[in-house]
Amino acid sequence: MDEAIRSRYEVVIGLEVHAQLLTKTKAYSSDVNTYGSAPNTNVSAITLGHPGTLPMMNQKTIEYALRLGIACDCQINQHQHFARKNYFYPDLPKGYQITQDTTPICTGGQVLIRKEDGEKKAIRLTRIHMEEDAGKSIHDVDVFDTLVDLNRAGTPLLEIVSEPDLRSSIEAYNYLVEIRKLLRYLDICDGNMEEGSMRCDANVSVRLIGSKEFGTKVEVKNMNSMRNVQRAIEFETQRQIEAIENGELLSQETRGFDALKGRTISMRTKEAANDYRYFPEPDLPPIEVSEAQIATISAQMPTLPNVLFERYTKQYGLSEYDASNIIDQKGLALYYESLISYNSNYKASANWLMGDIKSYLNEQGIDISQFPVSPQRISALIELIDEGKISNTIASQRIFPALFQSENSPLEIAQSLNLLQSSDSNELEGYIDKVMELNVTEVQRYKNGEKQLIGFFMGQIMKVSGGKADPKASNSLMRQKLDSL
Ligand code: ADP
Ligand code: MG
Repeated sequence: MDEAIRSRYEVVIGLEVHAQLLTKTKAYSSDVNTYGSAPNTNVSAITLGHPGTLPMMNQKTIEYALRLGIACDCQINQHQHFARKNYFYPDLPKGYQITQDTTPICTGGQVLIRKEDGEKKAIRLTRIHMEEDAGKSIHDVDVFDTLVDLNRAGTPLLEIVSEPDLRSSIEAYNYLVEIRKLLRYLDICDGNMEEGSMRCDANVSVRLIGSKEFGTKVEVKNMNSMRNVQRAIEFETQRQIEAIENGELLSQETRGFDALKGRTISMRTKEAANDYRYFPEPDLPPIEVSEAQIATISAQMPTLPNVLFERYTKQYGLSEYDASNIIDQKGLALYYESLISYNSNYKASANWLMGDIKSYLNEQGIDISQFPVSPQRISALIELIDEGKISNTIASQRIFPALFQSENSPLEIAQSLNLLQSSDSNELEGYIDKVMELNVTEVQRYKNGEKQLIGFFMGQIMKVSGGKADPKASNSLMRQKLDSL
């Protein structure tokens, strides 16, 4: 598209995120809530909504919703009730979904994201409400028929609705990254978009920059990764601008995303709320959330990624790059927290985690949760370096690999491999004398003024000592020797 035209428009995005909760049982029944069971095995009469059955509220759902609401600074609605949202679909055996309409558990609040320029921006939340998932229609397994798996029906969901505050596809992407991080830190959803445990509908409109009113919005569904959400918004932005430039009227519709073709396709015109015939759910009592319950959950909240980021960058002196790389993966942050509970060299701990440990994980294709060496042993290794007992190089090249072979402490390993660094001047002198003997020409050149050769000599000392010479002590001893010649 012509850049000049594109630059006159801005895109406006509001996201609706559905998060499947990691409860043991379903939202309103004791059916197990798990992914990957044989089709239609976790389905009781309650999930099917048979006559005479009654739903019962899973208290964990409320607790998880409160965790997220508190994390996002939402107002908590203390008096709530559920609503029935009626529609017909083959994967909705009850013919309605139990959701919240007029009294969502949380309203307001915000999620902090980073903009493209790195600045922080608060994305306001409209609401978070509790509801249940539908079953799954499977179109691509049987050649002739659509199959229905009802295991997912009744899975507890949180729907997180944002205000239309996002202004680019990258902001939308970053918002999803933050939401997923929160869900994972709070242990309430695994945030796996590929498996559908976190899903996102994107509402997209465009308008001329400077215009006060929003344009007609289109809702895009069926994106199974955060990258695809970004791609769908990119496509939709261009499509809408082109339509407006061509004098076409945009219609408020629901579109699907075709990831192979990279385009959105019209699915249906948007249904109005009154098509759903919402009414208060008669089979579930209203929910009362007490101040005490909110206080209890607040007190049990884990440290959130934003707080960690401030602490790592301001207190621990990590770079923003390192801090966000550690925090982005909860597992890495937990490992880091554990490391710095054993040693207080924050920077070295971050360097080991993002350096040698991360490389090992990448080589092995494993996750930090499968890393076999305990934070305690890595900390002991860091301490050996800090105490001048081994060099960084020895630690990384010799001792780190040995940690996988035995349960011995780094110190024991260093001792048994005879790697402890020597700052004992007799021993160092021995190395230095040897180096001077072997490099007579360089010694002469040094004497003639080429002082930068000290680097060369240091390398030689490391070589003859097998890396065991304490660099600081040998550096000063070497200079002394050379200068006194
Ligand atoms: P609907 O009634 O169609 O579901 P809502 O007002 O509930 O619409 O909004 C749904 C989502 O659409 C919210 O995330 C909201 O921020 C977003 N949204 C609303 N208006 C616009 C718009 N003009 N452009 C982009 N997103 C919008
Ligand atoms: Mg809506």
